[in-house]
Amino acid sequence: MREEKGSLFLVATPIGNLEDITLRAIRVLKEADLVAAEDTRHTLKLLNHLEIKKPLVSYHEHNKREREGFLLRQLMEGKKIAFVSDAGTPGISDPGEDLVRLAHENGIPLTIIPGPSAAIAGLVLSGLSTGRFVFEGFIPVNKRARRERLDSLKAETRTMVFYEAPHKLLSTLRDLYEVLGDRKIALVRELTKVYEEVVRCTLAQALEKYEKEAPRGEYVLVVEGLDKKALEEAARSAWDSMSLDEHVDMYLKMGLDRKEAIKKTAEDRGLSRREVYNSIIKKV
Ligand code: SAM
Repeated sequence: MREEKGSLFLVATPIGNLEDITLRAIRVLKEADLVAAEDTRHTLKLLNHLEIKKPLVSYHEHNKREREGFLLRQLMEGKKIAFVSDAGTPGISDPGEDLVRLAHENGIPLTIIPGPSAAIAGLVLSGLSTGRFVFEGFIPVNKRARRERLDSLKAETRTMVFYEAPHKLLSTLRDLYEVLGDRKIALVRELTKVYEEVVRCTLAQALEKYEKEAPRGEYVLVVEGLDKKALEEAARSAWDSMSLDEHVDMYLKMGLDRKEAIKKTAEDRGLSRREVYNSIIKKV
């Protein structure tokens, strides 16, 4: 079996419901020499539930550099290390990614024990298109980086999947609405737990809801991609009766930037960009 050769095992664990653990994950945890965990207290609860006793070592965002040497030595000596993150699939918005790189760079055999991931579970429950999607994880907190990330998603046509903590939900909804315009969204929370819930609405409706009530639990936000065809059709029928200014303004409201709005208006009307630009400038 493949895992007999492997020394690093990336083990997916439940995202809420403790029954969501595979038979293979349990066996690998039992057979490991060492369990490296993002949060040892959290993982201890899981191991106790599974009646598994193992040496535990922490490996998280703030100690990963100093722990790498130790873990690498253990792996080089042929030890079997199981890595588990707080919940779900290690490496998806948690420190597993660096451990995988370390193993590859040092020729350490590794494998995954697949299982739950909030992103996939949320996407599937969202009811939005799953054919093509893009995982965005947590959007940056830093104002500028955040704006840049959101701007880069304006013309994204694939369904977008985000992670968000409850205390940041409202500001994220505000920013998504401001940059992407009003779109369909599914707010999926408490997946696999008692209060699992999917709220399907638009970004404007979500904002209205969470301005009145405090968000609770962990969220996966699934936002529909830009519907280019519908956008173009709506635009075509709308601009017939519009002035050039209104035409450009319509695209600005749809989330395009000024340059793109002028370009689209010029294309629609069979004019040059300069003609559109000049006409707008004259009126300012
Ligand atoms: N590696 C994990 C995975 O594969 O799902 C994700 C880790 S990330 C640090 C944690 C985020 O995942 C949370 O802030 C939340 O957005 C999402 N999440 C985790 N568990 C969830 C749940 N039960 N319901 C909804 N979202 C969840």
